[in-house]
Amino acid sequence: MPRTKLVAGNWKMYTTRTAAESLARAVAAGVPASAAVEVAVCPPFPWLTTVANALQGSPVSLGAQDCANEKEGAFTGEVSPPMLLDAGCKYVILGHSERRHILGESDAQTNDKVHAALADGLHVILCMGETLAERQRGLKERVFQRQVFAATSGLSDEQFHRLVIAYEPIWAIGTGHTATPEQAQEAHAFIREKLTTLFGASIGQNVKILYGGSVKPDNAAGLMSQPDIDGALVGGASLKAETFLPIVQAAVAAG
Ligand code: PEP
Repeated sequence: MPRTKLVAGNWKMYTTRTAAESLARAVAAGVPASAAVEVAVCPPFPWLTTVANALQGSPVSLGAQDCANEKEGAFTGEVSPPMLLDAGCKYVILGHSERRHILGESDAQTNDKVHAALADGLHVILCMGETLAERQRGLKERVFQRQVFAATSGLSDEQFHRLVIAYEPIWAIGTGHTATPEQAQEAHAFIREKLTTLFGASIGQNVKILYGGSVKPDNAAGLMSQPDIDGALVGGASLKAETFLPIVQAAVAAG
């Protein structure tokens, strides 16, 4: 069965409540119910319910940008998977490079969060990717292997069905330097091969692998046409419907 494409917008720590609401309404209005791709938006925590309301009746899914690895407890400032489900989320982004590299999150912490989110019923967009130094030193495959293995060890087959991987080369995030379609395809094919070796052909073939890193309307079609690129995780260009919707349309056109 062909993998359906997914285009997810990561709004990071941007938008006011009013801006989030109008962006969500504009995205919802631009994605027809019959769209052959899935679209999700991931606003900051405080706007989740506002955006959930704005998306009602549309096919656009809601996601969060992180979660705790516990259901509840004395964890000041944390937000749990059941809370995200309660707020209307389907997805949660985990292991984003900004959390790994700015906030010091380890592979083990990411793995704990992946397990907690999947156990409670969320779908996870798990980010991974190499730094420029790792790429230049020829280490990117070793990094993918470590990140795939560390973040997915112990998942059941059913949980893999709710796991999406986002390959995000760190040197391409927010920099305007996107990977070429060929560079991205090579990385996606390697990650898929690792999944197949570690977890079997069915998981290797069925897990969606999104590309993320300066995806824009003018480079989306080239990326989406690659056989192992199953959509995009979009940062900067997801903050305006005028730049996000053409990326969705590129995914629709690529089928
Ligand atoms: C991201 O934050 O996941 C991302 C890919 O950002 P940008 O599209 O701005 O590079």
